[in-house]
Amino acid sequence: MKFSELAGAFGRMEGTRKRTELTSILSELLSKTPPGLLPKTVYMIQGKLRPDHEGVELGVADRLAVLALAKSAGVPASDVRRAYGEAGDLGAAASQIMRRRAQTTFMAQDITVERVYETLLKIARLGGSGSQGMKKTYISSLLNDSTPDEARFVVKLLLGTLRLGVAENTIMDALASATGTTRPMLEGAYNVCCDLGRVAEAASSGGAGALGGFRMSVFSPVRPMLAERARSGAEALGRICPLAAEYKLDGERVQLHTDGERTVLYSRRLEDITSYYPDIVERVPPAVSAESVVLEAEAVATDPSTGRFLPFQELMHRRRKYGVEKAVREYPISANIFDVLYADGRGLLDMPYSERRDLLSKAVKEDDFVRLVPMYEAGDEARIDEILEECLAAGAEGLMLKRPDSPYQAGSRGANWLKLKAEYRSDLGDSLDLVVVGAFYGRGRRTGKYGTLLLATYDDGADFFRSVCKVGTGFTDEHLDRIYQMLSGSVTLKRDPRVISGMEPDVWFAPRVVIEVVASEITQSPVHKAAMDSARKGAGLALRFPKFTGRVRADKAPEDASTDSELIALYRAQGRTQAASGG
Ligand code: ATP
Repeated sequence: MKFSELAGAFGRMEGTRKRTELTSILSELLSKTPPGLLPKTVYMIQGKLRPDHEGVELGVADRLAVLALAKSAGVPASDVRRAYGEAGDLGAAASQIMRRRAQTTFMAQDITVERVYETLLKIARLGGSGSQGMKKTYISSLLNDSTPDEARFVVKLLLGTLRLGVAENTIMDALASATGTTRPMLEGAYNVCCDLGRVAEAASSGGAGALGGFRMSVFSPVRPMLAERARSGAEALGRICPLAAEYKLDGERVQLHTDGERTVLYSRRLEDITSYYPDIVERVPPAVSAESVVLEAEAVATDPSTGRFLPFQELMHRRRKYGVEKAVREYPISANIFDVLYADGRGLLDMPYSERRDLLSKAVKEDDFVRLVPMYEAGDEARIDEILEECLAAGAEGLMLKRPDSPYQAGSRGANWLKLKAEYRSDLGDSLDLVVVGAFYGRGRRTGKYGTLLLATYDDGADFFRSVCKVGTGFTDEHLDRIYQMLSGSVTLKRDPRVISGMEPDVWFAPRVVIEVVASEITQSPVHKAAMDSARKGAGLALRFPKFTGRVRADKAPEDASTDSELIALYRAQGRTQAASGG
């Protein structure tokens, strides 16, 4: 398949913001892509080369792309830099420069999707000394044979700046219509393998039958099961009774895969985080009496002398590339196992929770590092309160309340798991995880930095990020520096097509960074667009007096942020609380 077909579809997608149009362009593209090429095409649509959990990153710097482009176009690098400065985007600059060249040069051959993909993969896998020169040669040779429109997208793919405004949900909708399957079928397969390329190929070559045959396996992470909020023990018991109450520990969720020889740890967003936790890799597998196993655990900073759990901030010292050994010594943790999803060749997602817990207690030999998360059965409110008090005293943040006979519902935030945090018992009090989509420059001490951030919820139906508040409080100078650095790679010239807001910040960002905020209340708003029309036609919902909690949610992708539906649920619950208290 010619790369020009892909580039043409990308160009049309960049030209629209309508989801239906995006889906139909995608679906047309996917229908004409041969099944064997679908995985590569799907990864490139996502601006990737492999699923995230494989950790393949292109990592080409602007500087290198500028040099390669200059070489291909036969112009000085300063010309490329000038065009880059004027266009504000190196992809657009590449297409202008190559257009000038095209008038004088005869194109050697059509480039194919295959060739672009394989070249990008080679570049991603190159490392070590001398790799820069090789990368430049590969890039130039690709650009030499590219038309101006193709060059634009080759460069964007290389730099990781391709933003077509489609996430997994939209791609799955397009795939469903291209392959005659349905979104739930595709989701079912995706939830247990987290590889949209593989799912696309199966859907196209084997339809519903092939999708139904997806089984989990070691080293293919499963999308995590998530919890809904409960505001009180009574509310939880109204939904599940009797229930299993587990401590909700405040650390990092880790999905551990081991076959006895090799162990890989995946984060909540299914990135490979093995290197952060050599102690988990060393100590957990020998404590489990199964060769191959997939476990879920919460890594929590722990005081080794008392066994008490420490705040989440302590654990953040462990998320580093260098000095890992020192961090392991200085910031001890414990691995607190709460689920088992696979054991010795058998997927356990359909096994009821209570049986999975039984299996865990038989298979895991506990010590001061490897522990099972405490679990109690509860059938009345007094008992839940008692367990909550006890778990708060141990340093946990609340309870996870689970339905004993429920399967593990990968990728879903359903009613079989509820979370009850101590703070939910106050009025709104609850924290939300929001996506940073824009910023306003600060004044005074904050001059030259972002003083206020524009935040958004995730509308998972439409695949949009809708602004919900501005936040300027709760930041220390250190936070502001760190956030400024984190956001620097996400600045965009215009509003990202997936961002919806009535505000015009000084700087727009591609939706990437997620931070936690608390707020006093949710109100209707004429400017913010979150949960639009849900409370009143023409009005969105907004947070009142939002405050940053100090916590950047590096473990969440933007699509894992609090959704519009969660915001609506909180808004309604707040109305009920106010009515009950006469407020
Ligand atoms: P939060 O911001 O409250 O951590 P979340 O969106 O990351 O929420 P939820 O499904 O809402 O995820 O809450 C479950 C989270 O709590 C898990 O992702 C996990 O990291 C953590 N956790 C701690 N203890 C447990 C437990 N016993 N069972 C399941 N999850 C637990």
